[in-house]
Amino acid sequence: MTELGAVQQFKGISAHTKHFFRRQIISWFGRNKRSLAWRETENPYCILIAEILLQQTDANKVSLIYPEFIQRYPDASALAEAEQEDIQRFISRIGLNYRTQRLINIAKDINDKFAGYIPNSEAELMELPGVGRYIVNAVLSAAFRTRTAVVDTNVVRILEHFFGVQSQRSRARTDPEFWNIAYSLLPRKVTDCRDWNYALIDFCALVCTHYNPKCSECVCAEHCRHFSTH
Ligand code: SF4
Repeated sequence: MTELGAVQQFKGISAHTKHFFRRQIISWFGRNKRSLAWRETENPYCILIAEILLQQTDANKVSLIYPEFIQRYPDASALAEAEQEDIQRFISRIGLNYRTQRLINIAKDINDKFAGYIPNSEAELMELPGVGRYIVNAVLSAAFRTRTAVVDTNVVRILEHFFGVQSQRSRARTDPEFWNIAYSLLPRKVTDCRDWNYALIDFCALVCTHYNPKCSECVCAEHCRHFSTH
């Protein structure tokens, strides 16, 4: 497929199909949403920490350490002053040990550059070490109630499957076309965007999974391109 072909494919998604997709997932989320500690707060620091812990890590695993982690390091100052070995004790339980140093660096930057407060602008959040567009948007959506979409490999998978689109990029989550679709799916009301993003994430985690997606019980199957062609 040519680059132009891919773009045309993205642009061919009808408003009706998007509406169906959004309606079905919101309705499913109402019945199946996961109860996760970091969703009980709008504290930007707590949400940022959760997103860093969730990088390439299952939410159930993160749940094992998150409440104690936040209790021990309730703000950026506490985290910046923590002993590296103490943080490492938490991180070693969920893997990706490089995050210990990353958390310290982020906490120090928040203290030094932003007076201990998590910034609420995309540009400033992007300055934090190891923080990319997904985390930035997740924090903006969940903590600051902004109209921002989230796209990671899981979201790419469901967009590919349901809408039958494909990226030409090796790292599809960086493809602007996927971000465009994700933005076009956001609910109109800003206040609904946080829940929508959580709904999409939960649906990817529980139904449209990487291995063995549960197509036979999927509420989107009726219009899913992947389901109709496999
Ligand atoms: S029918 Fe299967 S592939 Fe399509 S969205 Fe549902 S779970 Fe994913």
